[in-house]
Amino acid sequence: MKKSYKIEVDCANCANKMEQAAKKTEGVRDAVVNFMALKMNVEFEEGADPKAVMQQVLKACKKVEDDCEIYL
Ligand SMILES: [Zn+2]
Repeated sequence: MKKSYKIEVDCANCANKMEQAAKKTEGVRDAVVNFMALKMNVEFEEGADPKAVMQQVLKACKKVEDDCEIYL
């Protein structure tokens, strides 16, 4: 399953940090952040609950870049 989320982040470098953090989160098969579009596309593992997984993704992203936001 794939979902797209609107994000807020100040630069491409931080966007990349968010992408790496999202990729490492359990339940995420792959994540791609598009800084120009301010979007994060997430592909979830089979059986994963996107809502629960995205809470963890948000937490992980805030850890690497506390100025970022993901609109869930
Ligand atoms: Zn930045």
